[in-house]
Amino acid sequence: MPPRYPVNDRTVKWAKYQPKDGDLILVCDHRNQKTYHWFILDFRDGQPIPMEFERPDGSRGTAMWACICDGCIRSNPNPEVHTTGEGIWTGDEPFIPDMAN
Ligand SMILES: [Zn+2]
Repeated sequence: MPPRYPVNDRTVKWAKYQPKDGDLILVCDHRNQKTYHWFILDFRDGQPIPMEFERPDGSRGTAMWACICDGCIRSNPNPEVHTTGEGIWTGDEPFIPDMAN
Protein backbone atom coordinates (compact mmCIF):
# COMPACT_ATOMS: atom_id res chain seq x y z
CA MET A 1 0.00 0.00 0.00
CA PRO A 2 1.07 3.62 -0.38
CA PRO A 3 3.21 5.18 2.36
CA ARG A 4 1.27 6.62 5.28
CA TYR A 5 1.52 10.14 6.58
CA PRO A 6 2.18 10.42 10.33
CA VAL A 7 -1.27 10.65 11.94
CA ASN A 8 -0.02 13.24 14.44
CA ASP A 9 1.29 15.56 11.70
CA ARG A 10 -0.78 18.68 12.41
CA THR A 11 0.29 20.33 9.15
CA VAL A 12 -1.83 17.79 7.23
CA LYS A 13 -5.52 18.57 6.67
CA TRP A 14 -7.28 15.21 6.33
CA ALA A 15 -9.92 14.50 3.73
CA LYS A 16 -13.51 14.48 5.06
CA TYR A 17 -14.04 10.89 3.95
CA GLN A 18 -11.47 8.20 4.69
CA PRO A 19 -11.44 4.45 3.97
CA LYS A 20 -12.62 2.44 6.96
CA ASP A 21 -11.35 -0.85 8.29
CA GLY A 22 -12.69 -3.65 6.09
CA ASP A 23 -13.52 -1.45 3.08
CA LEU A 24 -12.80 -3.00 -0.28
CA ILE A 25 -10.58 -0.78 -2.43
CA LEU A 26 -9.81 -1.03 -6.13
CA VAL A 27 -6.18 -0.53 -7.19
CA CYS A 28 -4.04 -0.22 -10.32
CA ASP A 29 -1.14 -2.53 -11.15
CA HIS A 30 1.57 -0.27 -9.70
CA ARG A 31 2.05 -0.86 -5.97
CA ASN A 32 5.45 0.81 -5.36
CA GLN A 33 4.97 4.36 -6.58
CA LYS A 34 5.69 7.56 -4.63
CA THR A 35 2.34 9.22 -5.30
CA TYR A 36 -1.18 7.83 -5.36
CA HIS A 37 -4.56 9.43 -5.94
CA TRP A 38 -7.62 8.34 -3.97
CA PHE A 39 -11.08 8.50 -5.46
CA ILE A 40 -14.55 7.94 -4.12
CA LEU A 41 -16.11 6.05 -7.01
CA ASP A 42 -19.76 7.17 -6.70
CA PHE A 43 -21.92 9.72 -4.91
CA ARG A 44 -25.63 10.02 -4.34
CA ASP A 45 -27.16 13.18 -2.88
CA GLY A 46 -23.67 14.39 -2.02
CA GLN A 47 -22.83 11.27 0.00
CA PRO A 48 -20.29 8.63 -1.08
CA ILE A 49 -21.88 5.29 -1.93
CA PRO A 50 -20.35 1.95 -2.99
CA MET A 51 -20.04 1.32 -6.73
CA GLU A 52 -20.84 -2.12 -8.10
CA PHE A 53 -18.20 -3.69 -10.35
CA GLU A 54 -17.64 -6.97 -12.16
CA ARG A 55 -14.46 -9.05 -11.79
CA PRO A 56 -12.87 -10.89 -14.74
CA ASP A 57 -14.37 -14.16 -13.45
CA GLY A 58 -17.86 -12.64 -13.66
CA SER A 59 -18.38 -12.31 -9.91
CA ARG A 60 -19.57 -8.96 -8.64
CA GLY A 61 -18.47 -6.75 -5.78
CA THR A 62 -18.93 -3.26 -4.44
CA ALA A 63 -16.24 -0.74 -3.57
CA MET A 64 -16.32 2.88 -2.53
CA TRP A 65 -12.63 3.64 -3.14
CA ALA A 66 -10.04 3.49 -5.88
CA CYS A 67 -6.33 4.04 -5.22
CA ILE A 68 -4.51 4.78 -8.46
CA CYS A 69 -0.86 5.71 -9.03
CA ASP A 70 0.15 9.10 -10.37
CA GLY A 71 1.41 7.70 -13.69
CA CYS A 72 -1.90 6.02 -14.47
CA ILE A 73 -3.92 9.15 -13.64
CA ARG A 74 -1.66 11.29 -15.79
CA SER A 75 -2.27 8.93 -18.72
CA ASN A 76 -6.08 8.98 -18.22
CA PRO A 77 -7.88 10.89 -15.45
CA ASN A 78 -10.71 8.32 -15.16
CA PRO A 79 -9.75 6.05 -12.23
CA GLU A 80 -12.07 3.26 -13.32
CA VAL A 81 -10.05 2.47 -16.46
CA HIS A 82 -6.97 1.66 -14.32
CA THR A 83 -8.45 -0.70 -11.73
CA THR A 84 -6.93 -4.14 -12.13
CA GLY A 85 -7.17 -5.55 -8.61
CA GLU A 86 -8.69 -5.14 -5.20
CA GLY A 87 -7.73 -5.21 -1.57
CA ILE A 88 -9.19 -4.80 1.90
CA TRP A 89 -8.29 -1.66 3.80
CA THR A 90 -7.16 -2.19 7.39
CA GLY A 91 -7.18 0.44 10.10
CA ASP A 92 -9.30 3.52 10.74
CA GLU A 93 -6.72 6.26 11.25
CA PRO A 94 -6.71 9.27 8.88
CA PHE A 95 -4.73 8.48 5.78
CA ILE A 96 -5.74 10.67 2.85
CA PRO A 97 -4.68 14.33 2.95
CA ASP A 98 -7.28 16.81 1.80
CA MET A 99 -6.12 18.43 -1.44
CA ALA A 100 -7.54 19.60 -4.73
CA ASN A 101 -7.59 16.90 -7.36
ZN1 LIG B 1 -0.80 2.71 -11.84
